[in-house]
Amino acid sequence: MELTPGVEKTIKPIDRRSVHRICSGQVVLNLCTAVKELVENSLDAGATNVEVKLKDYGADLIEVSDNGCGVEEDNFAGLTLKHYTSKIQDFSDLINVETFGFRGEALSSLCALSNVSIVTCHKSANIGTRLAFDHSGNITRRVPFSRPQGTTVSVQQLFLTLPVRHKEFQRNIKKEFTKMVQILQAYCIICTGVRINCTNQVGQGKKQAVVSTSGSSTLKENIGAIFGHKQVQTLIPFVQLPPSEEVCEEYGLNVSALPTKLYTIAGFVSQCNHGDGRSTTDRQFFFINQRPCDPGKVSKVVNEIYHMYNRHQYPFIVLNIRAESGCVDINVTPDKRQILLQEEKLLLAILKTSLMAMFGTDVNKLAVNQKLTDVEGNLKSFLQNEGEASPSETSTRPFSPNRDETSTIIARLKESVSRGKTFALRETERAQPKHRPTTSQGIFQMLAGFSASPRKKILLNEGSEDGSEVDSRNSPLAGRKLEKPNEDTDSGLGSVSAESDGGLSTPETAVHFRAESAGDSSKEKSSVSSGEIQSSECGSSGVFLPSEPNQNEEGGFSRQAASSPKAKRFKISQPLSPKAHFSAMTPEQDSDAQPLYDVPVKMEKRTVPLAVSWSSLTGRIQRQIKRQETEGEMLKFRKFRAKISPGENKTAEDELRKEIRKEMFANMEIVGQFNLGFIIAKLKSDLFIVDQHATDEKYNFEMLQEHTVLQGQKLIKPQNLNLTAVSESILMDNLEIFQKNGFDFVVDENAPVTQRVKLISLPTSKNWTFGPQDVEELIFMLSDSPGIMCRPSRVRQMFASRACRKSVMIGTALTASEMKKLISHMGEIEHPWNCPHGRPTIRHLANLDLITQL
Ligand code: ADP
Ligand code: MG
Repeated sequence: MELTPGVEKTIKPIDRRSVHRICSGQVVLNLCTAVKELVENSLDAGATNVEVKLKDYGADLIEVSDNGCGVEEDNFAGLTLKHYTSKIQDFSDLINVETFGFRGEALSSLCALSNVSIVTCHKSANIGTRLAFDHSGNITRRVPFSRPQGTTVSVQQLFLTLPVRHKEFQRNIKKEFTKMVQILQAYCIICTGVRINCTNQVGQGKKQAVVSTSGSSTLKENIGAIFGHKQVQTLIPFVQLPPSEEVCEEYGLNVSALPTKLYTIAGFVSQCNHGDGRSTTDRQFFFINQRPCDPGKVSKVVNEIYHMYNRHQYPFIVLNIRAESGCVDINVTPDKRQILLQEEKLLLAILKTSLMAMFGTDVNKLAVNQKLTDVEGNLKSFLQNEGEASPSETSTRPFSPNRDETSTIIARLKESVSRGKTFALRETERAQPKHRPTTSQGIFQMLAGFSASPRKKILLNEGSEDGSEVDSRNSPLAGRKLEKPNEDTDSGLGSVSAESDGGLSTPETAVHFRAESAGDSSKEKSSVSSGEIQSSECGSSGVFLPSEPNQNEEGGFSRQAASSPKAKRFKISQPLSPKAHFSAMTPEQDSDAQPLYDVPVKMEKRTVPLAVSWSSLTGRIQRQIKRQETEGEMLKFRKFRAKISPGENKTAEDELRKEIRKEMFANMEIVGQFNLGFIIAKLKSDLFIVDQHATDEKYNFEMLQEHTVLQGQKLIKPQNLNLTAVSESILMDNLEIFQKNGFDFVVDENAPVTQRVKLISLPTSKNWTFGPQDVEELIFMLSDSPGIMCRPSRVRQMFASRACRKSVMIGTALTASEMKKLISHMGEIEHPWNCPHGRPTIRHLANLDLITQL
């Protein structure tokens, strides 16, 4: 863009009309804000009846009518002017403002963005008036119009004046519509005594109800009107408690100095029995002084606490927080949904204490019944059944004085189970000595880390507390196979898949065994770390060595045949201290000699005289300089810098994503298999390590996701789903996606809204049961991306579990061609970087150009 020299130097104000157009798009951002502003105006006008009519989801017309006070004739001119308001006069009024609006921006902005007309009749007027406005907010037409007291604002063609936004708006209208309904529901809930009704008409079709309330006097009735009676039955009222000492301590609050009446909280939350919560956060409504808002920290705390008691669900929440107006700042963003609170930590502490007390009874039950019975043996089954307790049991138990302590124990147990999920291991296994590498070099240090990971996981799961957690964190791929999926009992029956599940025969337990017998990685750790490594070339087992020259004299590594046929991995050849040697023996040799508990390892120091000659040293340096000169350009730029460490997972993945294109996988050369669990592959000078199980699992998972059509089982009786009108419409628009997931419905277009669809078929699979909650989760996903194929999270879990079982196990020897196939599969899927459970599949090991040999 070229500027004329004169214009460049002069600073001038932008003309008012342009300023208006520039800024209006920031006040009214989307359909949601437009409807919200108009509804707020009606509520501010004291309306008890508000009608929202949409045409084409609001893209064509948004019309909000009310029976509020109406607009006086004297105010017509100011009605749509920027920053003209009847609600405040100066800044000091802001502190006590009780109306939703006060900035005088909404109507003027809507005028700038669309064609606005208003019909209003003030309570003092005999007849109403119809006003039309231009984009600057000036009245262009004014005619008498008969109507009862109140106001109707019509907004036609929102964003008409901003062509790019207009197009985007129309393209995403269904998504915008769903978000708008979510916000409108908040007003419907909080406005007791006001009847709010919203309808939508598509083309010349029938008007469809979107959401409606009947002007009830309680929150609970409003909730029932919107979400149905069934939803209300799952809720408990919020019971406020003063913050407990422990919680105050956690938030760094001084208990004695806390104001007592700053916050008063009322509302409803889902009970914490599994099934009473929801599969998504789609029904969470927060209000501060009756004003719908998005208090991020509050919602985080509520969800976190709920998860402690109902781990797999989210609560329905309606919380109205009353705060003294002096400690609230509502004027943070134009839409006023971000609110600043003084003493926010106090609010969080009150919420935490109160919610924990409300849900606490369930934890006591779990604690008494399960905690002390048989933790090692039965913990898993208890967790699988968590939350399935009978309601009678949960409700009768009173609060116990030490419930916080109990809940912490349970939370910790849950945490460790969710990390490991394999508790029941034999004593003897637990007692194996743990050797850590003392010295390590270059890529072999990394290899040692990889080889150690399965074993580390076992140690962690066995409940060892002495740093095994740290161990597991050291390896990003740690425990990738020994983690037995807890819901992994699905037989795969009841579904038709493009890929057969025939390969399911290798049970997970076999992997435990094989990982143990094929190589005790604690030994490998010692052997690898001792500096010198060798391997057998084991024919079909496909174990190859990186083709490095022998370098014994210079402290490098050598290549020799391994003595044991089972030891298809790197083995030690350097003389070792007796104990180190013990740890390098094959499993057969040492099986009897295992001590029952950890024994300290004594490493004997060896003194080796080194011959040093200046001439050879200078010769080496010169060779090195020469090499660097020739390879200098290449070495300047390292594509992969991230270390193999959990803390760098994101960086590592970003690098891989950036540097490796899909087709590159096919060009990777297979160097060999490491530790019967990893493939070492080479692309130009870069070496990569690939987790054979994780990568195969990801590929199989993606294939199942793409091709599986889940078969449904017919229900004896069609089931009513109690969906809201909007959810029902989303479902009806996406029936095919539901069918692919095994859900089928009968649709009766003429039935009353919310009764139009009935569930007649559910996907089935042994040990996996699906239900209306999965339907709701799909609706939630589809509301964000209508028409795009998606799966409920539990179907994904089921596929992940199936994929896991049909994938190459750790401990399986692979031929070169099998490894090649696994690597090229990585190039056939979109995101090959993690397995469905989130574990990394590939990491960069080293750049061979950087490993210089003098
Ligand atoms: P604000 O609500 O911040 O005052 P608006 O642009 O939304 O700004 O509205 C400007 C003014 O128009 C309001 O202050 C109010 O006096 C008047 N007004 C808007 N809508 C209505 C309505 N539905 N009924 C009565 N008066 C209204
Ligand atoms: Mg307003």
